[in-house]
Amino acid sequence: MKTVKAAKSLSVENLPLDVATQDKARADALPSIQKDMLRTYDPAADNVRRFLDLLAERITRPVAASLAACVHCGLCVESCHYALTHPDDPTMTPVYKADQIRKIFKRRIDWTGRIFPWWVKAGTPRGDEDLNRLKNIVFGTCSACRRCTLNCPMGVDTAILIRFTRGLLTELGIVPEGVFNVSRDEWETGNQMAVTPLDFLETLQWMRDDLRADPKLAGLDIPVDLPGCDFMYTINPREIKFDPRSIAQAAKIFHLAGEKWTLPSAGWDQTNFGLFSGDDRLGGALARNLYEAAIRLRAGRIVISECGHGYRSTRWEGYNWAQYDQDLPSESVVRTLQRYLREKRIRVDKTKNDLPVTFHDSCNVARSGGMTEEPRDVLRRVCADFREMTPNRTENYCCTGGGGLLSMAEYRPLRMEAAAIKARQLEATGAKLVCTICHNCVDGLNDVIKHYKLDMRVVQVLELVENALVY
Ligand code: SF4
Ligand code: SF4
Repeated sequence: MKTVKAAKSLSVENLPLDVATQDKARADALPSIQKDMLRTYDPAADNVRRFLDLLAERITRPVAASLAACVHCGLCVESCHYALTHPDDPTMTPVYKADQIRKIFKRRIDWTGRIFPWWVKAGTPRGDEDLNRLKNIVFGTCSACRRCTLNCPMGVDTAILIRFTRGLLTELGIVPEGVFNVSRDEWETGNQMAVTPLDFLETLQWMRDDLRADPKLAGLDIPVDLPGCDFMYTINPREIKFDPRSIAQAAKIFHLAGEKWTLPSAGWDQTNFGLFSGDDRLGGALARNLYEAAIRLRAGRIVISECGHGYRSTRWEGYNWAQYDQDLPSESVVRTLQRYLREKRIRVDKTKNDLPVTFHDSCNVARSGGMTEEPRDVLRRVCADFREMTPNRTENYCCTGGGGLLSMAEYRPLRMEAAAIKARQLEATGAKLVCTICHNCVDGLNDVIKHYKLDMRVVQVLELVENALVY
């Protein structure tokens, strides 16, 4: 892909520096349990000292390896949608972003930087304004897509450095307001959109009643807390709050496949903002909710609805954060659908999906999860005109909304500039539908389509399978 220069050009220097005005009401508004869990920015504290202490305390072998291994060859620049759309701005390159934490590591921990700081360009933040600038870099100029990681000859994982730095800043309360708010909702309610138990149950009931209006589906149920099922289904709160059609589509397909399944009444949210904020304690608490629900219900396995970061968090990261034995089988609902199609448990007619459709690989599923062929197998079985975008699979470009960026409104203008690459890539397919297996990508792609006025619509695999059903 050639460099695509953004029409306007924002840089790190234009991003808002708002430490002094961070939401002062936050701390008071929190119940006491969250006060300990979720830090608010404290202007009176020596935040630089705390940041340096945390850095020394939390550094891990993979983080240290990625900090030490970079040879500054610059190859990663070609991978990053921010750098490719801002070719004249070195601050948009992965190596610059990683160097902002690397230089602090060198000054504080690495022996070369402690003895010869000028030689290895080591340095420490001078105050809260520098920490705030670092916040803008790690939250605002990187979607943690890991495309640069896969293209680094030295194996440097820039995204792991970004997440590590985000975690240190989160501990100090120096985070974008959206990250703070979503984290608070997760701590308080166990799900990232503060869905109440009543809303959850009423939405399921509504979907069930809608489906039962079809006489052929009169016996359909959306079970909750049914013990001993083949699988426990877990969803993204966005499905309850904004788009419950996906729950209805899944329920209809599971019913026609003769599946024994259930949703849990608690621990149903498979998303996890701990992945984005770098807060392992939040990540562990949310993952534990979900694993304990599966054990409580004696579920055979966990099936994860279409969500990229939920897939990654639930299948492996969550076990590390929660320090939980990885003894619960889990899979994406896309694999479940693939099995139904292969075993002919559901019948489909692909001509019912006759518009040209392309597939967007979610970063967390393809690049970080290695699942690239299953969705294609399903799409080829249920769509008459499936076409690849270029590049694809692990080389695909981010939807631009990864890394929690959808919750950070202040970085949206820069994100839309960096989306020029994605817009060109989508447009070149000539497809009318772009399918993704991630709710986050649905919103990210919708933003790109709207901003660049593309003639296409975002769909998910469940929608296409449901539309092709013959029953
Ligand atoms: S992160 Fe990797 S690709 Fe990028 S400059 Fe460093 S060594 Fe080169
Ligand atoms: S992880 Fe993605 S967005 Fe972040 S620097 Fe690397 S390529 Fe760019």
